[in-house]
Amino acid sequence: MATDYDAPRKTEDDSESIEALKERVPDKLSGNVDVEDADNPSGFELPGADLSDVELDVVVLPPQADEFTCVSCFLVKHRSQIDHQSKLGPICVECAA
Ligand SMILES: [Zn+2]
Repeated sequence: MATDYDAPRKTEDDSESIEALKERVPDKLSGNVDVEDADNPSGFELPGADLSDVELDVVVLPPQADEFTCVSCFLVKHRSQIDHQSKLGPICVECAA
Protein backbone atom coordinates (compact mmCIF):
# COMPACT_ATOMS: atom_id res chain seq x y z
CA MET A 1 0.00 0.00 0.00
CA ALA A 2 2.78 2.39 0.92
CA THR A 3 4.65 1.95 -2.35
CA ASP A 4 1.40 2.28 -4.32
CA TYR A 5 0.76 5.70 -2.72
CA ASP A 6 4.25 6.92 -3.59
CA ALA A 7 4.09 5.84 -7.26
CA PRO A 8 1.48 8.26 -8.76
CA ARG A 9 3.35 11.33 -7.47
CA LYS A 10 3.83 13.92 -10.24
CA THR A 11 6.33 16.79 -9.99
CA GLU A 12 4.13 18.97 -12.22
CA ASP A 13 1.24 18.80 -9.73
CA ASP A 14 3.58 19.76 -6.86
CA SER A 15 4.88 22.88 -8.61
CA GLU A 16 1.38 23.99 -9.54
CA SER A 17 0.11 23.67 -5.98
CA ILE A 18 3.14 25.60 -4.64
CA GLU A 19 2.49 28.48 -7.04
CA ALA A 20 -1.16 28.55 -6.00
CA LEU A 21 -0.14 28.70 -2.32
CA LYS A 22 2.30 31.57 -2.94
CA GLU A 23 -0.48 33.61 -4.56
CA ARG A 24 -2.90 32.92 -1.72
CA VAL A 25 -0.54 33.58 1.23
CA PRO A 26 -0.49 37.43 0.98
CA ASP A 27 -4.31 37.58 0.87
CA LYS A 28 -4.64 35.35 3.92
CA LEU A 29 -2.06 37.36 5.91
CA SER A 30 -3.64 40.74 5.17
CA GLY A 31 -7.07 39.34 5.96
CA ASN A 32 -5.89 38.11 9.38
CA VAL A 33 -4.36 41.50 10.23
CA ASP A 34 -7.61 43.29 9.45
CA VAL A 35 -9.56 40.92 11.69
CA GLU A 36 -7.10 41.43 14.57
CA ASP A 37 -7.34 45.21 14.22
CA ALA A 38 -11.12 45.08 14.55
CA ASP A 39 -10.90 42.79 17.58
CA ASN A 40 -8.41 45.00 19.47
CA PRO A 41 -9.39 48.66 18.93
CA SER A 42 -8.28 49.59 22.45
CA GLY A 43 -4.67 48.58 21.66
CA PHE A 44 -4.34 51.58 19.32
CA GLU A 45 -5.53 54.21 21.79
CA LEU A 46 -2.48 53.94 24.09
CA PRO A 47 0.11 55.00 21.43
CA GLY A 48 -2.11 58.00 20.60
CA ALA A 49 -1.96 59.20 24.22
CA ASP A 50 1.83 58.90 24.18
CA LEU A 51 2.02 61.03 21.03
CA SER A 52 0.21 63.94 22.72
CA ASP A 53 2.81 63.85 25.50
CA VAL A 54 5.62 64.07 22.93
CA GLU A 55 4.01 67.10 21.31
CA LEU A 56 3.76 68.83 24.72
CA ASP A 57 7.46 68.19 25.35
CA VAL A 58 8.37 69.96 22.12
CA VAL A 59 6.19 73.00 22.90
CA VAL A 60 7.53 73.25 26.46
CA LEU A 61 11.06 73.89 25.15
CA PRO A 62 11.44 77.67 25.62
CA PRO A 63 13.94 79.51 23.44
CA GLN A 64 16.52 81.45 25.43
CA ALA A 65 16.45 85.27 25.52
CA ASP A 66 19.15 85.45 22.85
CA GLU A 67 17.60 82.68 20.77
CA PHE A 68 14.53 82.28 18.55
CA THR A 69 12.66 79.45 16.86
CA CYS A 70 12.45 79.82 13.08
CA VAL A 71 8.83 79.28 11.98
CA SER A 72 10.04 77.84 8.67
CA CYS A 73 12.62 75.20 9.69
CA PHE A 74 11.58 75.10 13.41
CA LEU A 75 15.22 75.20 14.52
CA VAL A 76 16.29 77.21 17.56
CA LYS A 77 18.92 79.72 16.42
CA HIS A 78 20.77 82.73 17.79
CA ARG A 79 19.16 86.15 17.41
CA SER A 80 21.91 87.12 15.00
CA GLN A 81 20.50 84.51 12.61
CA ILE A 82 17.11 86.28 12.29
CA ASP A 83 16.55 87.54 8.76
CA HIS A 84 13.14 89.13 9.36
CA GLN A 85 9.89 88.77 11.32
CA SER A 86 7.04 87.21 9.35
CA LYS A 87 3.34 87.15 10.32
CA LEU A 88 3.90 83.73 11.91
CA GLY A 89 7.21 84.56 13.60
CA PRO A 90 10.91 84.94 12.98
CA ILE A 91 12.53 83.59 9.81
CA CYS A 92 16.17 82.60 9.91
CA VAL A 93 18.67 83.77 7.32
CA GLU A 94 19.00 80.26 5.87
CA CYS A 95 15.25 79.98 5.16
CA ALA A 96 15.06 83.55 3.85
CA ALA A 97 17.95 82.96 1.43
ZN1 LIG B 1 14.79 78.62 9.26
